[in-house]
Amino acid sequence: MDTIQKKDIRALNREQLRSFFKESGDEAYRGDQVFEWLWKKGAHSFEDMTNLSKKTRAMLMDQYVINHIKVDKMQRSSDGTIKNAVRLHDGLIVESVLIPTSTRTTACVSSQVGCSLDCKFCATSRLKRMRNLNPDEIYDQVVAIDRQSRLYHDRPLSNIVFMGMGEPLMNYNNLLKSIEKITGSEGLGMSPKRITVSTSGVPKMIRKMADDEVKFKLAVSLHSAIDTIRTSIMPFNATFTLPDLRESLIYWYQKTKSRITYEYVVWEGINDTQKDVDALVDFCKFAPSKVNLIEYNPIDDGAFQQAGEAALNLYVNTLEKNGITVTVRRSRGKDIDAACGQLANKS
Ligand code: SAH
Repeated sequence: MDTIQKKDIRALNREQLRSFFKESGDEAYRGDQVFEWLWKKGAHSFEDMTNLSKKTRAMLMDQYVINHIKVDKMQRSSDGTIKNAVRLHDGLIVESVLIPTSTRTTACVSSQVGCSLDCKFCATSRLKRMRNLNPDEIYDQVVAIDRQSRLYHDRPLSNIVFMGMGEPLMNYNNLLKSIEKITGSEGLGMSPKRITVSTSGVPKMIRKMADDEVKFKLAVSLHSAIDTIRTSIMPFNATFTLPDLRESLIYWYQKTKSRITYEYVVWEGINDTQKDVDALVDFCKFAPSKVNLIEYNPIDDGAFQQAGEAALNLYVNTLEKNGITVTVRRSRGKDIDAACGQLANKS
């Protein structure tokens, strides 16, 4: 039988697995056993499921596949950062990154193959969006990084950021399902407070998340609080405008009481003046928020240049004077193109 025809067994939940066995004339608890193998023990093949009879394993093999991701290539940076090129069952590749600090290990995971947005400064935008990742493809990236964290840094994964390839809110249902697995006791049991979903700002979906009362944190890649400038660097801003984004964020805060993080790169000649800073300060006043100034990671053509210390200080000082928390984030893993916005399947 052709593998393509077989269904991915990991698309079935526990109940569906139980029903499958009942309907095949077997005991429902076999479904629980398979579920454990798939999600607790991370089995990659039906052969591994040693508490099932040979006949049962063969029956499963006939009808199903286990579509696991495979870490095709792992690169380790001198600062401990690890970048994985992850091969999906259909041969497409996404990237995920392990970022260690002295106290935590953060997984930066992808939500789509490529991206449909067109941020001018981001390497991933050069790849067209090929497809959404399935919940288990997102989950597997996290599991792989958890293993690497234990192996290379002697501790489990502590945090997850959806800042890899793709726009998570354009793959919302699968994002939620993957987070359910990550936080669920049958998966990794992680606290949702340790998960941050980063979006370029899709107002309709931010409202939806607020309505769904999600428990993870929200980060918005703002980069400019002036509509014309934001549109010039993030063209979809012409459709998802700042006033609309602002309204959705106010709604988000009202519903969730969860502070928003604005990610922001300061570029020379683009957003490095007092006017830009003042607009950001105003934007921050709509809902409790903090600003994360991120270092620019150059992608090939040099159209964007990281602004110098003076502009950064202008931002930090003005934000602080206005009582807004600001952090400056230095890039990690630049030597292996693993930093923000550098994920573009170069390998
Ligand atoms: N689509 C989502 C998540 C992926 S991008 C989003 O836009 O938030 C993750 C973060 O990296 C975003 O804040 C993005 O603006 C930033 N980024 C993209 N390219 C970058 C680059 N070349 N240097 C630094 N940060 C970059």
